[in-house]
Amino acid sequence: MGRKFFIGGNWKCNGTVEEVKKIVTVLNEAEVPSEDIVEVVVSPPFVFLPLVKSLLRSDFQVAAQNCWIRRGGAFTGEISAEMLVNLGIPWVILGHSERRSLLAESNEFVGDKVAYALSQGLKVIACVGETLEQRESGSTMAVVAAQTKAIAEKVSSWDNIVLAYEPVWAIGTGKVATPAQAQEVHCELRKWLHDNAGDEVAASTRIIYGGSVNGANCKELTTQLDVDGFLVGGASLKPEFIDIIKSAT
Ligand code: PGA
Repeated sequence: MGRKFFIGGNWKCNGTVEEVKKIVTVLNEAEVPSEDIVEVVVSPPFVFLPLVKSLLRSDFQVAAQNCWIRRGGAFTGEISAEMLVNLGIPWVILGHSERRSLLAESNEFVGDKVAYALSQGLKVIACVGETLEQRESGSTMAVVAAQTKAIAEKVSSWDNIVLAYEPVWAIGTGKVATPAQAQEVHCELRKWLHDNAGDEVAASTRIIYGGSVNGANCKELTTQLDVDGFLVGGASLKPEFIDIIKSAT
């Protein structure tokens, strides 16, 4: 069965109101393949979510970059899944490597967050990926399988999950994985899903690649059988994001 191409734009901790408005204008004016062909989701910082949602064209969606692990309440500084739902935010990115490494989010913590976000009706872009040391020591697959397992153990359905393979060594470094490197891990992840979550989940779950994707390297990555889209950081703040969206066709 066909997996609709998925393009996520992770704006990270960037932007001012003025800059955000400019990016949205570029997106709104862009001629891109229809939503039957590509699903586009941009992820501004929390404080800009309502603004972006109100200005953005209706065929593009928004995602938060994180949410709290359980019901809201006495958790200063956190944003709950319920609040995102209340604002009409459909997606959330969870398990990004910057949060795993800088904020010590463990596999279990990420798995719990994914399960809670899904339980509240959010769709999740769940990120996995190995560091350079892990790749060089030959443990890439063991690392991403453990990260995926921690999610799989907590969820009863993969319908609303997009799995993002983001090798840490490729994020923000300009060092993109080769199409063959991306395909190898995506194919292994799909096999892992097949063995652990079943045929149908493996066939229908979108596995997207992230790490220094740009307008120049995206097209070649799309030729890979198991690459179902991208999670784009730096380039999602620039007009070349439109070229990346267009690579879906
Ligand atoms: P990058 O970031 O495209 O700037 O490498 C990707 C990400 O962190 O999602």
